[in-house]
Amino acid sequence: MITGNEIRKSFLEYFVKQGHTVVKSSSLVPDKDPTLLFTNAGMVQFKNVFLGQERRPYVRAASAQKCLRISGKHNDLEAVGRDTYHHTLFEMLGNWSFGDYYKAEAIEWAWQLLTREWGLPKDKLYATVYLDDDDAEKLWRKISGLPAEQVVRFGAKENFWEMGETGPCGPCSEIHLDRGPTACDKQGVAGHECRVNGDCARYIELWNLVFIQYNRKEDRTLEELPSKHVDTGMGLERITAVLQKVLSNYDIDFMRELTATTEKLTGKKYGTDPTADVSFRVIDDHARAVSFLIADGVMPSNEGRGYVLRRLLRRAARHGRLIGLKEPFLYEVAKTVAVVMGDAYPELRTEEQRIREVIRTEEERFGETLDRGLILLEEATAKLKTEKKKTLSGEIAFRLYDTYGFPLDLTEDILRGEDIDVDQAGFEKLMEEQRNRGREARVVTLNVFDQVSASDSAIVTQYIGPDTLDAESEVVALFGDGGGKQEATEGDEIELLTAKTPFYGESGGQVGDRGMITTARGDVVEVIDTQHPTPQLTAHRGRVKKGRVQVGDKVLLQVDGKHRQKTKLNHSATHILHSVLRRELGQHVRQAGSLVTPDRLRFDFSHTGAIPDEKLALIETEVNQHIREDAGVSIQELNYDEAIRHGALAFFGDKYGDRVRVVRIGDFSTELCGGTHVRASGEIGLFKLHFEGGVAAGVRRVEAFTGQGALDLIQIYEQRLKDIGDLLRGGAEDAVDKVKKLLDRQRELEKEIEKLRGELERDQIPNLLAKKQSVDGTSMLVSQVEGVNGKQLRDIADQLQAKLGSGVVVLASVGDSNVNLVASVSKELTKRYHAGNIIKELAGMVGGGGGGRPDFAQAGGKDPAKLDAALKRAEELIRQAK
Ligand SMILES: [Zn+2]
Ligand SMILES: [Zn+2]
Repeated sequence: MITGNEIRKSFLEYFVKQGHTVVKSSSLVPDKDPTLLFTNAGMVQFKNVFLGQERRPYVRAASAQKCLRISGKHNDLEAVGRDTYHHTLFEMLGNWSFGDYYKAEAIEWAWQLLTREWGLPKDKLYATVYLDDDDAEKLWRKISGLPAEQVVRFGAKENFWEMGETGPCGPCSEIHLDRGPTACDKQGVAGHECRVNGDCARYIELWNLVFIQYNRKEDRTLEELPSKHVDTGMGLERITAVLQKVLSNYDIDFMRELTATTEKLTGKKYGTDPTADVSFRVIDDHARAVSFLIADGVMPSNEGRGYVLRRLLRRAARHGRLIGLKEPFLYEVAKTVAVVMGDAYPELRTEEQRIREVIRTEEERFGETLDRGLILLEEATAKLKTEKKKTLSGEIAFRLYDTYGFPLDLTEDILRGEDIDVDQAGFEKLMEEQRNRGREARVVTLNVFDQVSASDSAIVTQYIGPDTLDAESEVVALFGDGGGKQEATEGDEIELLTAKTPFYGESGGQVGDRGMITTARGDVVEVIDTQHPTPQLTAHRGRVKKGRVQVGDKVLLQVDGKHRQKTKLNHSATHILHSVLRRELGQHVRQAGSLVTPDRLRFDFSHTGAIPDEKLALIETEVNQHIREDAGVSIQELNYDEAIRHGALAFFGDKYGDRVRVVRIGDFSTELCGGTHVRASGEIGLFKLHFEGGVAAGVRRVEAFTGQGALDLIQIYEQRLKDIGDLLRGGAEDAVDKVKKLLDRQRELEKEIEKLRGELERDQIPNLLAKKQSVDGTSMLVSQVEGVNGKQLRDIADQLQAKLGSGVVVLASVGDSNVNLVASVSKELTKRYHAGNIIKELAGMVGGGGGGRPDFAQAGGKDPAKLDAALKRAEELIRQAK
């Protein structure tokens, strides 16, 4: 049997023979198009080539691309696992022509590969072509020899492909396979007609060939492109199922290995219980998806891509429960993912440790609340059933989300079997209320949000940055202690809202602007921070420094240019750092958080293990190289609609308002960012790393300085080195040598001291032995020892005990203001004397505590004056013992 890995390989090799260059799969997180949630087709990495914005050193390409199809919408995970052919993560095999070959070759090669190389039966294959694509039909008839009834025409819905509302587009041609009447999953369904594109499992689409020959213009008309392209795609899982002669994508070899791992963990068999089978398939699919996502640097979180990852992890965890897996297990299945797919996707192996760690941590976290959440849900459904109701309240769904970490689709997934749905509107309402509470909390001192949103939602602050630092406007609202007010006077702490502002409000990790607001009368408000209580509002936080300010005042707003400039340097440097980290450490590196202030930048990213010093030096060097390149910074604004067309809707939510900014630096950095930036990288001047360390499982942090701040840091280091040189009475140059020598000398001295102490101990032994007394035939030695610490006292006691052979030793020494006590009883005497009990009593007498074993014990005390009495007591205790 040909394996999935062999099919991938034979596809790529076949197209290499036809002059194609094999291009590596791009990341699941699109690099060139940050507005797209996930890479969902093989052509994503070539998009700019089709748009004529990028050139490649080849005109024919082939690849196996990892793809993830899941929108931010909560209900489209539904099908995965329930049937045998839906996936979130899948692989797409494809070949491309960039202005090179066209329909004839594309059809010829597809046909040859399927029928000659892979031996699919000609009489079971169908080709579809677009309504008016006579060329394609002729080519199919000629090349394949298929009869007329096996070359079928379809309309735009099935056979015309468009990249977006405008841009490259063209007819496509699909190859379908008839798997025979028994494969139909709609037998007996009224109105079902078994045919190509008839929407059942009998006729399945294998391969889509897109012929890009037009450009769709704004006015909806088509113009011929000067050069024509080919873009094809074939799902690896599906073609593997066909070639391995199984009906289910989950029965192909590498999926079966994942199932086998779960079977081993749970002790149950796949294929014996249809309900359990759903769980097995969910786990197979999600183990792959989460492994690939984490390998590409996505970390579980509560928004965007991170939330998609979290939902997949939690849905898998819950399906694990259904088949009896109570402990974390998915990280074990992920190990198999790395084994079976690691040859084609090496990042699964290099990142394996981090992938497992992140999955396990998330599984453990969710495991703590999953069971309790399930109990709550069971109680709620039982109540619904007795009340004969079919809808779970939004409050319960929200409580499950908020307290127990159940994504809404997980709750829905669980209830589907019970035929109960969820009041989504009610849930959304509570979510929105929670978001609002979050916003309130962000405005630290006051409470703008409530007041404005409740009373006057018409207020919107127009941001006129980032290129303007001064603007005139009018005060539209004032808030102080106790809420909204008409006027504030000198000394008052306030939040001030104007109709428009050049002040940047804190967002995207960049801190808010500072500056000054003055009235025509000469009153002054000092602004110490700027925040967005809501996305539409900008609140200037500060203090009335002079005079008073009133609602309605005409004011001049002036941003502190130096503060802004320093912040800009750090922000742009953060983007450069991000791109360099990805190049130096791997494509799994993704931003996990950032803080950009005028003084420094902090950047958290997905990565495991400390970064070696040499690597850090290299990263610093490369960032500085990019700075010296003086690369231009360009900012492109997309409107919300455009972004939605790019698939960005769920990704942005309401976070970015209605404009999305794409910030590019040179050709090495492209990010979605609303912050303020330099015009060219050279402005940053200098970049100096200051700190590197871990902050959470799989997350590292670096801190750095730029511009004058970086120079200041270097000067501080330099001064420190000079000071050390001065202390060593030499220059900074030979400071290292001198410190080395000093340390060597210190080690020598320590050895010397150790030796002398040893001698001192030995010298005391004969004197101490002379104090030996005999009690009923037992040797007893009770004494104070001069000039030794607790550890040495113990050593002396050991040596005395060894010399005595059999006996009881009690020793004490006095430090600066403390007492050390040690008692030792030779083993054969422990029935009669108990070292621990003796020491306990003595310690009590000298104001301390302690105890120990019958044969050895030690303690400390605070009252040296009582020591003589304590030692007398020791002798008594030994004499009295029977
Ligand atoms: Zn059918
Ligand atoms: Zn940014």
